[in-house]
Formats: sequence, C-alpha cells, structure tokens
Amino acid sequence: MTVYLVGAGPGDPGLLTVRGAEVLARADVVVHDRLSVASLLELAPPAAERISVGKTPRGPSTPQDEINALLVDRGRAGLEVVRLKGGDPFVFARGAEEAAALAAAGVAFEVVPGVTSAVAVPAYGGVPLTARGLATSFTVVTGHGDGLGATATDWEAVAGVGGTIVVLMGVATRGEIADRLLAGGLAASTPVAAVRWGTRPEQHTVRTTLGGLAEADLESPAVIVIGEVAGLDLAWYERLPLFGRSVVVTRPRHQAGALVERLQRMGAGTVELPTIEIVDPADGGAALRAAAAVVGSYDWVTFTSANAVARFLPLLRDARAFGAAKVAAIGPGTAQALAEARVVADLVPERFVGEGLLKAFPPPHPGGRVLLPRAAVARDILPEGLRGAGWEVDVVEAYRTRPTRPAPEALAAAGAADAVTFTSSSSVAGYLEVAGLAAVPPVVASIGPVTSATARNLGLTVAAEADVHTLDGLVDALVRALPPR
Ligand code: SAH
Repeated sequence: MTVYLVGAGPGDPGLLTVRGAEVLARADVVVHDRLSVASLLELAPPAAERISVGKTPRGPSTPQDEINALLVDRGRAGLEVVRLKGGDPFVFARGAEEAAALAAAGVAFEVVPGVTSAVAVPAYGGVPLTARGLATSFTVVTGHGDGLGATATDWEAVAGVGGTIVVLMGVATRGEIADRLLAGGLAASTPVAAVRWGTRPEQHTVRTTLGGLAEADLESPAVIVIGEVAGLDLAWYERLPLFGRSVVVTRPRHQAGALVERLQRMGAGTVELPTIEIVDPADGGAALRAAAAVVGSYDWVTFTSANAVARFLPLLRDARAFGAAKVAAIGPGTAQALAEARVVADLVPERFVGEGLLKAFPPPHPGGRVLLPRAAVARDILPEGLRGAGWEVDVVEAYRTRPTRPAPEALAAAGAADAVTFTSSSSVAGYLEVAGLAAVPPVVASIGPVTSATARNLGLTVAAEADVHTLDGLVDALVRALPPR
C-alpha cells in the first residue's frame, strides 16, 4: 500500500490532475490542509477517514513531525493514503520532508505533481509569466525565507536575472523585498500584479509598481508577479459572467455536481444546500419490484425524473426485460440517465414538462397500458391526462423525497448568497422548510414553469426561469438575471 503525495492545485477543483482524482477515489485516508477545497475531499469514498492538518494563518498548526509520523503510521497499516497538498507537493510545501520520512521508514510513496499556484494563479489573473520580448525566464521565490528567515534570498541577485519574478508567501515581507529588488537595480516603475485567492471565486487582482508595492493593499494568500509581463492585462476569469456571484444549489447531494460544475465554469462561487434527499418508497419498493417484474406487459414506461430511472432500472435483469414496451422521458436529463444504462428513450417531448409529454404521447390502442414510476408526491396532470386520453395508467411509487438538515454554516452562506437555483417543486418546498423565507437570496432562478409556480405560491418572486428546461437553460437564465458587475 502506498502514500500518495498529491498536488491539489491552487483552488479551482478543475485543476486537480486526472491521476490525483484516481488515487483520491480509492483512498482509505485523506490527510489534507485546513484550507483544502471541500469538493476535492468529496472525491474520496464516503467512508474514507479525513484528517485535517497543517497551518492556518495565525491559527493552530500541526507540527510537521506529527504529520510525517501520521503518514508513516497509516502507510504501515496497509492503507491507501492520500496526502493532499495545495498547488504542487514539491513547491514550497514540505513534500520533500514527508517523502524523506516515508523513505526512511520504508513506506512506499508516490508523488502526484499538481498545478502550482506560481503558474496557475497569474494565469487566472491574466498575467503570462513569459511573453515574447518581455521576459525570457521566470524565477519563483518564497518571501518567507523557507525556514531560513526572510533575508535568506539574495534578492539583489534575483533583480539581476532580468526576467519575471514570482513571489509566493511574500505579502508580509513585500516592503523588504521591494527595497532589495530596487537596490538590485530594478526600476521603481516596474509593473507588479498581485493575485489573491487565485482560481477561486474570491479572486482579486491588485496592480501596482515596484515603487508602490510596500504600500499596496494586499492580503495573504497572494502570488506577486514582478516584471514587464505584469503590465499585461489578459484578464478573463474575473470577467466570466457570474464571477464574484454566490449561487445556492439546492439539488440533492448526489445530483448537485453537474449544476455546480456549470456555475463554476461561469465563475460563480457555489453553496451546496441540498434541501431534500431521496429515500426508499413507503412500501420499501415492493410495488416497484412487482411492476418491474412485468414491465414487458406495458405499452409504455414513462420516466419523469432521473431519480425514477435510477430506482427502476436496477430492478431489471437487463434492458431486454422491456420487451415491446416503449420508453418515454420527460426531458434530456432523464433521457441521459436512461442512455447511461443503454436504454434509448423512444419519446422525449419538445417541452420538458408533464403537459409537453402529454401532448407528445400517441393515442392508445384498446386496453393500452402505461407504467409511471415516480416520486411519492407528484403532480397528477400526467396520469390524469393519459387516462383522459384513454390509457390505463399504473402509478408506482419509486422514491420519496424528504427534507434534509443542513449544517448551520451552509445555511448562513445560503442566506448571504446572490441567487438560489431550484430544479424541482420539492426543492423549493424543502428550502423554505429548512432555511425559511428570510434566507432566500435576492434572485430566485427556476428550471421551468412548474417549479416557478410552486415558488410563487410559496411567496417567492422568481427573477429567472429557464427557456429550455435543462441545467444549461437554468444557468443561461441566471446569467441574464444577474447583470455583470
Ligand atoms: N505548494 C503550493 C505553494 C504553497 S506555499 C503551490 O505549489 O502552489 C503557499 C503560498 O502559495 C501562499 O502564501 C501564496 O503565495 C501561494 N498560493 C497558493 N494558493 C494560492 C491561491 N489560490 N491564490 C494566491 N496565492 C496562492
């Protein structure tokens, strides 16, 4: 068994390497820094032990010896251990000491390099470290002295190299660094760009000059770039449509990922507040199993949610059990869930609501039968409409939703957010139940007319409604409702 020293990248979870995600997915133990991004920790199996160590600025810190001993101990116990470190594990991260301790103890280890903040943070700030005609090198230096005191670096010599200077951990010592680079011959007018909390929704870029660096309004953690390239402004991240916005995602935990991802790609910060969870039907699934056993006797099986697909399909031996029965899906998300099980929906309506499905449904032949596995509480429009059209309809409870109990921090973050997204009526009701009306952010965005109607009935004002009732449609509507700052 192995201890993996894994670079987590600078913050944006998309900057974890594929190898890093692989080893996290089968970790027994994750030893992480206090500031690690929560969504990366979720890549580890739910049962994995998660141990928070390391420094918090001006707060408690775990001595390095103890971290080394912990890694050796868990490694010797035969566990798969991931030591998750910000950026790259071998760049100002004491990965060298951890690897040496493991080597000395005879514990197998592997290093999974990460995207270092030295390179990625300037990139997200729109500052290229090299550019033709402006810099032929970049030098990465710690302002902290790396255990040797702030003066350990020969800054005057660094000034003489002539390329870009990238300073990590340099906020506190920036005055001294600036003085010594000036003494080394750099001009006071040399451009400086400092990027705080780079690659994260909180990212903030400060632009100044070497002469102004000491007085610049800067806080840790920041990467400071000094040199002609810092005069370039290729900003893109801070210009994403939802940059600087905080958006609440209310989908059940196992379904939140796809929406969170889309929002983050638009630059938003996300607050996950699952307000409902999916649980077994009241009868433990007996009726669903019975229906699944005779699925081939229906003319149509109609799915109105990916959750119903997830509950129903595992009850079939394989897709041949459908026999001659055709399959309908209410929208692309449900059709996608079917497709992942290699079942292609025969019918997906143009409008992804019950009415749309009803309209698209063919007329029945005599005795035609429809199976509708779905949530315990759901609208009657579809079964009643189908019956009205002459179909015989069996509605079978596939799952129930029930309100969750979110952590107080998540509730507080949700209340302070700019917007909340709802992808179902039950999530609206769940939100009001767990968070209350007072914790509804100013902008409410809904996936479609049914969800919007529920929200309005419960006293909310819906500012954004998806034209196309999909996650992409929802994000588009949100972008329209939240003008760029
Ligand atoms: N191993 C890490 C560096 C750890 S030292 C890496 O390769 O990136 C910690 C310093 O890294 C901070 O003081 C800051 O200078 C920089 N840093 C790390 N993440 C950062 C971020 N998201 N934004 C700005 N600076 C960051």
